Amino acid sequence: MISETLSYYDFDEKHHSTYDVDLEEPRICYHCNHTGEQIFVSGMVFSEANENEDAVCFFNCYYCQKTSIHFMSFKNRNNYSWLETDSVLPKAKLIENQITQSNAVLEKFPEFFNIYNQSQKAQDEKLDQIAGMGFRKALEFLVTDFLLSYPPDGVVEEWLKNPKTSLSNKIEKLENQRIKKLSKAISFLGNDETHYTRRHPEHDVESIKMFIKALLSDVENEMTLLEAEKLLNKGKK
Ligand SMILES: [Zn+2]
Repeated sequence: MISETLSYYDFDEKHHSTYDVDLEEPRICYHCNHTGEQIFVSGMVFSEANENEDAVCFFNCYYCQKTSIHFMSFKNRNNYSWLETDSVLPKAKLIENQITQSNAVLEKFPEFFNIYNQSQKAQDEKLDQIAGMGFRKALEFLVTDFLLSYPPDGVVEEWLKNPKTSLSNKIEKLENQRIKKLSKAISFLGNDETHYTRRHPEHDVESIKMFIKALLSDVENEMTLLEAEKLLNKGKK
C-alpha cells in the first residue's frame, strides 16, 4: 500500500484540488510482463464516479519504462478505504500455456501466473523436479493473494505476509470448501516434489497442473460471486 496525492476538480468550490489516498500498487507491467513494484507517476479521482471506477492512475515500469493506465475503485473495510486496480491498459496478454481465459484472474494474481509460467518453462525443458516445486510456489502466491484480496474475518495482511505463516495455515482460512480442498491437494502433491521420498507416487506434476486448473476456475467463479454479493449489498443501503 502506498499513499499518494491525486487531483480532482471541486465543483462546489470551482477550483482544482487534491485528495490524499492509499492505493494498492500494481505489481506487474503488461508491456513487458515483468513483475515487481511499479512507479506511481500521477493520478486523479473522478469528481463524479464512473459506473465502476473512482480514479485513474498512471504507473511507469522500472524495466521497460513504459506507462500503464490503471482504472481503480475504492475498496472499504473497517472504516478504512483504499484504491485498487480494476482494469488496466494495456490489457494482460494471455499466457502461452493457457490455463485461464479470464483477464480478471490474470490481473488479480500476476505473480501466480509469473511463477506458473516459469514452472511451465522448466517442465518444457524436462526439468520436472524443479517444475513441481515451482507449481507449489505458484499455489502459495495464489492462496496468499486471494486471501489478501478477499480476507475472511480476522485474517490480516501482517499475518499473511509473515514468513512464519505456513501455506497450510493459510489454506485453513479459505472459506470456499472447493478452493480449500483443491489447494490442500496441490499442496500435498507439491510437498512430495520437495521431499526425498514420495508419499503419493501415483501422482506427478501433471496432477498438480490439473488441480491448479480446477482451482483457478473455482477462484474465478468465487470472484464473480463476491462481485454479485457486493452488488446486492449496495442495493440494501
Ligand atoms: Zn514493463
